[in-house]
Amino acid sequence: MSLPWVGRGGSIPRMTRLLYSFLGLGLLALLASCAAPQVAQQVAPLAASRGRDYWGHRPGPRGFTTVIIDAGHGGKDSGAGSRTTGQQEKNLTLDMAKRIRAELGGGFNSILMRSDDTFVELDDRVARANQHGDAILVSMHFNSGPPSLCGPETYYWRVDSHGLAVRLQRAMAQVSPGQSGNRGLVRRRLRLTRNPEIPCVLMEGGYLSNPAEARLIASPDYRQRLAAAIAAAIRTQAASGDAGTGPLPPPLTAPPSRASDKRE
Ligand SMILES: [Zn+2]
Repeated sequence: MSLPWVGRGGSIPRMTRLLYSFLGLGLLALLASCAAPQVAQQVAPLAASRGRDYWGHRPGPRGFTTVIIDAGHGGKDSGAGSRTTGQQEKNLTLDMAKRIRAELGGGFNSILMRSDDTFVELDDRVARANQHGDAILVSMHFNSGPPSLCGPETYYWRVDSHGLAVRLQRAMAQVSPGQSGNRGLVRRRLRLTRNPEIPCVLMEGGYLSNPAEARLIASPDYRQRLAAAIAAAIRTQAASGDAGTGPLPPPLTAPPSRASDKRE
């Protein structure tokens, strides 16, 4: 409902303005009384909406058209490395980003955060992601830790990223032949899970510090299967929203993540 000229200036006689004001208030009251339960359900406390949102206190996206694929690290920042295969995380994440884009095909506008071996600051990645509405951000990484740990992990923070994170973790776990001591799905405030104003998830595709998993990750065939599973999870999220991903987590209120709490 729009009454843009009510109360705007002196060209409308005062009594007329008052009359329209009352009419407007009456209409509002009528709408509120008729539609209160429905409106309450749709709008509060978690509105289903698309586009940018500072907090992400809303259900996960559906029908989005843009997928921003972030290859972790790059350039001077090699990320983790494998003592077993000698491979560097920055090269594997770029390879995965390109495979995910190819697997997504033409159904999405897929954007690579970086398409070569260049260093991009985390805050710049956030700023670039925030240039897009109606989009999701998936950041690809590989992990490092004690040699016994293996298996994928998925990080999210925003409520609107939970369903997507559940889907991505499930997808990677189905491809992974074994998991041991890995954290699985984790809610953590990172710069790439808290600061973007679009649904955003950070994936760890496995532990490069685990010799067996490092050898697996070194296989292009394994990376292709991982990428195909990730792309399928993204497609399912776009088609079905959060359906089948369990209850939404509670909204959290916390300031943007800073360099000092960088953990990725
Ligand atoms: Zn990383």
